[in-house]
Amino acid sequence: MNTVIGQENAAGTIRIHCPACGARDVPATIIEHREHVTEFAVVTVATHTTWWVQCSNCKATLYSKLNGAQLETKTADELVGLVYYRVSFVHQFLAIAAVALSFTPGLGTLLAAVAWVVNRKTKGWPRKLSKLAFIMSFVFLGGLILMAILSEMGRRH
Ligand SMILES: [Zn+2]
Repeated sequence: MNTVIGQENAAGTIRIHCPACGARDVPATIIEHREHVTEFAVVTVATHTTWWVQCSNCKATLYSKLNGAQLETKTADELVGLVYYRVSFVHQFLAIAAVALSFTPGLGTLLAAVAWVVNRKTKGWPRKLSKLAFIMSFVFLGGLILMAILSEMGRRH
């Protein structure tokens, strides 16, 4: 049986030009994210480490191409392009699915609401797309209700 244990450690502070909020020379925390894959929860068979940088201004977690030691030797200018905002696949998928299904009352409305909540704190296009899906789903839902009311009124006269 394999178990994956995630572990996060703060590993120092650097300065970055934040790609998420646009702040320049802003302090950011280096985060080491270590995933241990253990066999029977005893023997570590694999360790996968990724490095992240959290902006102190907007709290966005940015993906780093460099490890902690390399990060500390770089200036904010040098880190442009090496520390960047990465939108998770789930967020992208949710945003696209929400728009695609926004015309279905019920399912589309629910999906748009979920996508909007999940993407609310992220930056970039999935957030805008989720918001669009949310608005679209309500326009469609409103249209449907209006049509139902109109046809109901039409039947009475
Ligand atoms: Zn920021």
